[in-house]
Amino acid sequence: MDVLILDGDQQVTYSAKNSAFAAGPLELTKVGNEKKYLVSAAYPDAVFQYVKSEEFMLNSIINRDFGKIRSDYDDDTVFERELSSKTIYMLSRIRTHGSNSTVYVITVPTNVPGGMIALKVTGALAMLFFCVYWVLVALWLYRDAAKCRLSPLYWGLIGLFTNIIGLIVYKIYKHSGAICSSCGAAQAADYLYCSFCGSQLGTRCEGCGAKVGVKDCFCHQCGHQIK
Ligand SMILES: [Zn+2]
Ligand SMILES: [Zn+2]
Repeated sequence: MDVLILDGDQQVTYSAKNSAFAAGPLELTKVGNEKKYLVSAAYPDAVFQYVKSEEFMLNSIINRDFGKIRSDYDDDTVFERELSSKTIYMLSRIRTHGSNSTVYVITVPTNVPGGMIALKVTGALAMLFFCVYWVLVALWLYRDAAKCRLSPLYWGLIGLFTNIIGLIVYKIYKHSGAICSSCGAAQAADYLYCSFCGSQLGTRCEGCGAKVGVKDCFCHQCGHQIK
């Protein structure tokens, strides 16, 4: 692997590893129908596969099928015959703003052992975590609805199908009413007594008749002093 910096005239001004490509001008020209491959007149034995910089790392770590790259190159450049003698390099260009120099990263694609497996395992784990999270949301909805006596099966299913959206709707629905402090049941906002355990949820204002909390000192509607 090497990192090259080229000036506007395609002359190599810097080479990180002082590799074979450090010597001459690296004037790259595209070959093939899909223009994915580049060649340089100075290095007739080399073929460069152009890879976008964001894909460069991924392409470097996953276990690439080099036979496939070679046949892909062959398909793309049918006119080229003496290919087997060439080395295929992977090349990426890093954009340098406001200067006419170019930075190239060149590497011989090497198989990282288990690279693809590691990638698949990571993907599978992410999927597993996502499934666990999904089911946990549904389970939490089921249990909380059971605790508040709000049809647990119904809310559990909503959680299973709509997940976080169902959870938000549930929260809004629950907070639109009152929760009994004794048994935890969700009750309509205007109930004075819990319909499950009989605990007092509120009282009426003597001034205007509005429902006020048991611990309220003043009526929120008319300002009447309760205690
Ligand atoms: Zn209650
Ligand atoms: Zn009042």
